[in-house]
Amino acid sequence: MVRTRIAPSPTGADLHIGNLYTALINWVWAKKNNGQFIVRIEDTDRARLIAGAEERILKTLKNYGLKPDEDPKKGGRFAPYRQSERLHLYKNYAFELVKKGAAYFCLCDKERLEKLKKEQLIKKQIPRYDGCCRDKNYSLSQIEKAKAPYVIRLRVPLDKRIVVNDLLRGEVIFETNNLDDQILLKSDGFPTYHLAVVVDDYLMKISHVIRAEEWLVSTPKHLLIYEALDWPTPVFCHLPILRNPDRSKLSKRKNPVWASWYLSQGYLPEAVLNYLSLMGWSHPEEKEIFTLDELIRVFDLKDIKIVGPAFDPVKLEWMNGEYIRKTQNSKVKSQILEFYKNYHDKKLSEKMVEKTIPLVKERLKKLSDYWFYCQFFFERPKGQSLLKDHSYIKDIYQQLEKIKEWQAKTIGEVMLNLANKLKIKTGEFFMTLRLIITGKKISPPLNESMEILGKEECLARVKAIF
Ligand code: GLU
Repeated sequence: MVRTRIAPSPTGADLHIGNLYTALINWVWAKKNNGQFIVRIEDTDRARLIAGAEERILKTLKNYGLKPDEDPKKGGRFAPYRQSERLHLYKNYAFELVKKGAAYFCLCDKERLEKLKKEQLIKKQIPRYDGCCRDKNYSLSQIEKAKAPYVIRLRVPLDKRIVVNDLLRGEVIFETNNLDDQILLKSDGFPTYHLAVVVDDYLMKISHVIRAEEWLVSTPKHLLIYEALDWPTPVFCHLPILRNPDRSKLSKRKNPVWASWYLSQGYLPEAVLNYLSLMGWSHPEEKEIFTLDELIRVFDLKDIKIVGPAFDPVKLEWMNGEYIRKTQNSKVKSQILEFYKNYHDKKLSEKMVEKTIPLVKERLKKLSDYWFYCQFFFERPKGQSLLKDHSYIKDIYQQLEKIKEWQAKTIGEVMLNLANKLKIKTGEFFMTLRLIITGKKISPPLNESMEILGKEECLARVKAIF
């Protein structure tokens, strides 16, 4: 049975785009194998918790359509799915590790450890525990008697090699002498990530741990815990870290990194997921655009390339435009209506959106571009100050007023005749008309726009100028 999971920490504003990528791969792998996709919230780092982050993470996942089979909200066979509600479990296993000799109680106080760290940094060494309590083998009763804060540390064996079998990299070898005696249980009774992740992945019967590459270096420590507790290990698969096109690590300074930001800008969830699926992986037929169902059919974990793929917002925008073009007009209409309702608190007229979509669909890269092109259909423009020449505006009014059949073609003909009669360059003439009607130098096709706006409204806009 394939069971995958993501284990986000609620320590950021929202779901990071890199986490969305990890979520997608986990979700696809579960779907492909008729398995389950689980969301577990890793909230043991109390100092870094951000209020509301868990809610936002779950909501963003939902908005992208990556529905978990089990999560903290809906529960499941292995509930609770929030680590802060599972503390007793970690403590028990930490004690068991001590009993087995794979971990030990440590009574070192903060001051000493801080001093140690400073000294190591001065000597340009990587800060690590010096093993002071490692061989003291304190028993539980000694610890209780001491009435002092204690932690439990992993007893990393000396002079050994640990082989991590990674699905994408094969065997990755770690020397234990380079590993720190990691704290597993903190003095506040909370586990560290390393203990909690192993306990939960085991208890929740996770078959594939698919996560970002940055966790690969932690895996040897995890393997020591699995081994000590005599637990079978899941398959490990460390995904490449997304990079900016200039190869630097994705960061807020260069590109928006929150997954919800893309939705708030009018990217379609399916387009973003399609684009993300191509990070380090390609469709067997080199297709760039395909549905999630197709992805599930043709995807294989082992085909992911581990060189840091470039997340290119320009390419994503292009792809999003392709998605909009491929979508039926009626669907684009509802997407636009939803988008402006949810993100701009605007209730647009459904009829108007429907009429205008054919004029602008080809130009939309994001749903938010719609307003750039179409605002003037909903609001009278304010750009008339850009108008240079007012002399023939009355003529325009009179000619438009005479039109009986208010159709794009007729409007165009009548206006062209007028321009010719007045001997005004057509480019200049129509720019003036465009500014009057739309308030902008760039707009959807003018005659068609005027037809949609209606005679009365167009006349009113012309009249407003003189
Ligand atoms: N809590 C870790 C994170 O925030 C999870 C790492 C893992 O998947 O093991 O990404």
